[in-house]
Amino acid sequence: MVQASIEIEERDIQKERRLPAPLAPLERLAWNYWWSWAGDGNFIFRDLDPSVWEECEHNPRRLLKEVSDFRLMQMATDPGYIERVRRLAEKFEDYMADKQFWRGAQSETKITPEHPVAYFCAEYGIHHSLPLYSGGLGILAGDHLKSASDINLPLVAVGLLYRYGYFRQRLTRDGWQEEHYGETHPAELPIKRVTDAEGEPLYVEILMRGRVVRAQAWCVSVGRVSLYLLDTNIPENEELDRWVTGHLYGGDRETRMVQEMMLGIGGVRLLRRLGIEPHVFHLNEGHSAFLTLELARELTEGPEPLSFDEAAQRARARCVFTTHTPVAAGNDEFEPAVVEKCFGDSYEKALGLTHDEFLDLGRVDAKNDLEWYGLTPLAIRMCRSTNGVSRKHGEVSRSLWQRLFPEKAVEDVPITSVTNGVHTPTWVAPLIRALLEKYVGDDWAHACTHAQERWRRGIESIPNEELWRAHSLLKQRLVAFVRHRSLHARLQRNEARDYVEAARILFDPDALTIGFARRVAGYKRWSLLLTEPDRLQRIMLDEERPVQFVFAGKAHPQDQGAKLILQQLARWKYHPLVMHRAVFLQDYDQEIARQLVQSVDVWLNVPRKPQEASGTSGEKVAMNGGLNLSVLDGWWVEGYDGKNGWAIGDATASTDSLEAIDASDAESLYKVLEQQVIPLYYQRNERDALPHLWVAMMKRSLETLAPVFNSDRMVEEYARRIYQ
Ligand SMILES: *Cc1c(COP(=O)(O)O)cnc(C)c1O
Repeated sequence: MVQASIEIEERDIQKERRLPAPLAPLERLAWNYWWSWAGDGNFIFRDLDPSVWEECEHNPRRLLKEVSDFRLMQMATDPGYIERVRRLAEKFEDYMADKQFWRGAQSETKITPEHPVAYFCAEYGIHHSLPLYSGGLGILAGDHLKSASDINLPLVAVGLLYRYGYFRQRLTRDGWQEEHYGETHPAELPIKRVTDAEGEPLYVEILMRGRVVRAQAWCVSVGRVSLYLLDTNIPENEELDRWVTGHLYGGDRETRMVQEMMLGIGGVRLLRRLGIEPHVFHLNEGHSAFLTLELARELTEGPEPLSFDEAAQRARARCVFTTHTPVAAGNDEFEPAVVEKCFGDSYEKALGLTHDEFLDLGRVDAKNDLEWYGLTPLAIRMCRSTNGVSRKHGEVSRSLWQRLFPEKAVEDVPITSVTNGVHTPTWVAPLIRALLEKYVGDDWAHACTHAQERWRRGIESIPNEELWRAHSLLKQRLVAFVRHRSLHARLQRNEARDYVEAARILFDPDALTIGFARRVAGYKRWSLLLTEPDRLQRIMLDEERPVQFVFAGKAHPQDQGAKLILQQLARWKYHPLVMHRAVFLQDYDQEIARQLVQSVDVWLNVPRKPQEASGTSGEKVAMNGGLNLSVLDGWWVEGYDGKNGWAIGDATASTDSLEAIDASDAESLYKVLEQQVIPLYYQRNERDALPHLWVAMMKRSLETLAPVFNSDRMVEEYARRIYQ
């Protein structure tokens, strides 16, 4: 990891460019990520200059700086373009001005603009140009903010501005993952420094590792939601402390702990400085759990000091917690020595606790001095509500944390669930969106959740031919994307000329295309598909009924085992026979995810039960008409109805050995592929050559899954059941 000193942003002061009058609205649009999910938003920025748009990785602020004067004036004098800009700007003004309060609100709701929800998360996946996320948790948080904005639920969000974000992935010729980090330049992003009433930068301070550490704050607009990001990279801090917000999930345990202190404690202090008085604090995963202690400390040190127990009780009444990890080892834990070093003894004194009492808050068993300090026990203890992220995960969490409630039977453990969903307008392909507008109505996204009968009828009324044509076009786009990315990656790796050239003819737009993209973690079982390489090869190379695979995913930098799995796959796809039918797209991010989920025929998911808390990528696929082929775990347990996709194995928990379970799931996977998926895809009508039964399944998947597994439903459920 680089530990070079960090220069201050000189660019901050650079003058903004003045856009020609007809394009002036683009400046305002570029400052709010709303454009990224508004119908024409992406296209308007892209069309300003497609090549600069690609170079600057779809970052509108950079685009507006880097586009040439000539191109700018060309577009500023193009009446068609001017009109599109005008319409988008008008839509944006209408969106922002709509003060109609959250539609599901009862009259007595306590969530108001004065008392919003305060949402805390260590990562946010708003858009790939803002690299503050590593995977599912961040994307989920981003989708949560977008839906809160769309349904007008008052919510502010708090996170950290990582100077180096999460790593970017490159594979060597040998298939080994290499990491590199791109620096986040605030001056190039739509993020504004938060200032106080006098216009001076606003700071929060925390005593940690025996030193006062300061953080400045930035604000990002996500529709109507403000996301505040704390940042310790300021010259007043000691060098080491400037790295507190250096990398997402980087560094050692101590760095993690000070990051989490900054997020939780710093986050509360920031909201106070901003005069925001939340109705409820939502801890999205345990990383922000220290916020509960800070709320208690405000009361133990308040004007009328309370005892810790009273203070904790009041803090508890205002905090809710979502756990995302279905395995004990996945929870954030710290050696007591790390806690001691980072907190010192002043914080426990302020809380009125002894050292042991303070440490016990993070222990399942208070009598066990050897137990590490866990953020999940702390959060469960200090929040009035805990939930998992699918029904199944709720169940798993109740048994995982029953130890915290020894007097309760497992089914009475107070942990509920709210199943994850994804933000429809972010994930649905424009081409599918156009169909939904035509056949469901302009308010399709609303109808999807709130007028399900109309949604169902609308989907039914889409002519098979139109749906198939749209999907086929998207697949052609995917093939072009795969070739483009592969060509560049091969050139960059200095691969042999023939192999570079072969990228131009990779993939076949008519072949059954299966996507598999996710983190490379043991339980996701990346190698399950390769259990019987010969059988897989036969499946892929069938002349009449070919099958192709597209893979993407990152391994955690310190996870050597995961990197080996990746390497095994990377080497397999060099095999001359499968080379043109299997690709690995490096550097999985939100953009690659979008390309894949919008275009594949089938999305494969083979986690080891019950370790997939929810999974959300399959939900994105379903709302684009793709079909899920998945182990019955996470959200798919609720989603699968026997006719809207396929199940691998069954829903029961097995007591067999891991090897036996893997072997049986692999057999089931091959069988379902060979006997169901492939025959259905290639069963074409003689007259119009359409796979009518397949299209019927696409419709069934759209009808039954999109209305449930979207984030409007999810956020409303949080609002009704958890936040109130
Ligand atoms: C949706 C998404 C995820 C989460 O997908 P899972 O189903 O949980 O694996 C991870 N990374 C990116 C970039 C995504 O878009």
